Amino acid sequence: MNKTNRRLSGLDKKYLWHPFTQMKEWMSDDMVIISRAKGNYLYDSRGRRYLDGVSSLWCNVHGHGRPEIDRAVRGQLNRVAHSTMLGLANVPAIELARELIRVAPKGLSRVFYSDSGSTAVEIALKMAFQFWQQAPGNRKANTRKTKFLTFANAYHGDTIGSVSLGGMDLFHAIYKPLLFKTIQAPAPYCYRCPLNMERSACRMECLLKAEQLIKKHHRQLAGIVIEPLIQGAAGMITQPAGFLKRLRQLCTQYNILFIVDEVATGFGRTGRMFACEHESVRPDIMAVAKGITGGYLPLAATLTTEKVFAAFLGEYRDNKTFFHGHTYTGNPLACAAALANLEIFRKDKTIRQLGPKIRRLTERLNEFRRLAHVGDIRQCGLMVGIELVRDKAAKQPYPYQARMGRRVMLNVRQHGIILRPLGDVIVLMPPLSISGRQLEYLLDAVWRAIEEIR
Ligand SMILES: *Cc1c(COP(=O)(O)O)cnc(C)c1O
Repeated sequence: MNKTNRRLSGLDKKYLWHPFTQMKEWMSDDMVIISRAKGNYLYDSRGRRYLDGVSSLWCNVHGHGRPEIDRAVRGQLNRVAHSTMLGLANVPAIELARELIRVAPKGLSRVFYSDSGSTAVEIALKMAFQFWQQAPGNRKANTRKTKFLTFANAYHGDTIGSVSLGGMDLFHAIYKPLLFKTIQAPAPYCYRCPLNMERSACRMECLLKAEQLIKKHHRQLAGIVIEPLIQGAAGMITQPAGFLKRLRQLCTQYNILFIVDEVATGFGRTGRMFACEHESVRPDIMAVAKGITGGYLPLAATLTTEKVFAAFLGEYRDNKTFFHGHTYTGNPLACAAALANLEIFRKDKTIRQLGPKIRRLTERLNEFRRLAHVGDIRQCGLMVGIELVRDKAAKQPYPYQARMGRRVMLNVRQHGIILRPLGDVIVLMPPLSISGRQLEYLLDAVWRAIEEIR
């Protein structure tokens, strides 16, 4: 270990508190300190190169150091780095809003900015709640709509509102006394069916269960909140085809807002610009973040329809204003990066280029089913979860403390790949710009690492 590295590592251990990290373990371990990046590679302070296998936590899109985004941020820096949107407007925030609406599912027509996925969801939740409090129509009936239908294992962020909507006990059980209650439907986790259905006999019972809950509680339901097509943090749990579309229909039928959290799935991740497009679903509210700036800067947005927006219009004294906003709302630097990100999608035809990569990935992943400790493989575009189990036939997981996912992660790091598993689910989430060769390298290394488990 060289001197600079030793110094930085010492300071990190002395002063920092890392997210989702057991710091006792962190402080006794070696760390990788990233000092620069280019394309799909990260470089550490010792000069070692790593393939960015999880897109710097699911947000990088076109690679690091993309000249177009670099240029846009530098250009914006010459004009203004930050100015508020409370009482003022700014150029890139305006331009970006129009571009977002252009690429978003039809019907969405308004953009409310914030700075993380959690805040985007928090805003969606407050927006939906307040909408019903002041919606036109039957006031008495509308104001009773104060609850949300959510899904088991869901993850919507770490602020208290978004934790309330989530269902990940491992992360959030301790905060239970702080959370509001939701009506929770079982998640369609087919590998470990919560309703114990045999796969061949399943007629999407979890969907029927959600439908029953909607029928029972619709008068109180302000919205249904879902990660469309795939629950990310839960372990890349994919939903059966038709699940999302049916929920949308039920929301229309029962007068409930359909709120999609596209924070992880948005911006090409699933092979379409947004996951909703796969099922031609038009949400009432959509939260986006992670990939919005190409993985450059913290920015998020909550998009909604003109109908929702209109319920907030009135005289000032009517108090229909949406009293919410963050200091860095609509930050010009971040918006400039996001504009450049969308421009690259157009110029490079990113979505079209993705098709062959996704198909190759599917092909290779199929081979992984042969491996003794691979229980399930789930894929949605360039989002992949490989679930490791001790006993394949019995679907028996490893004991919690065995930390097989972590072992695989450390193994592939020796081969110059950065991964971050979710428990014993190996997550592959490379930048959309990953090359064919890099993809093969990634899969070869992961294969070997899983094969070596015994
Ligand atoms: C990451 C994530 C969030 C939270 O986003 P942050 O920017 O980390 O606050 C919310 N929802 C989903 C689906 C996510 O994957």
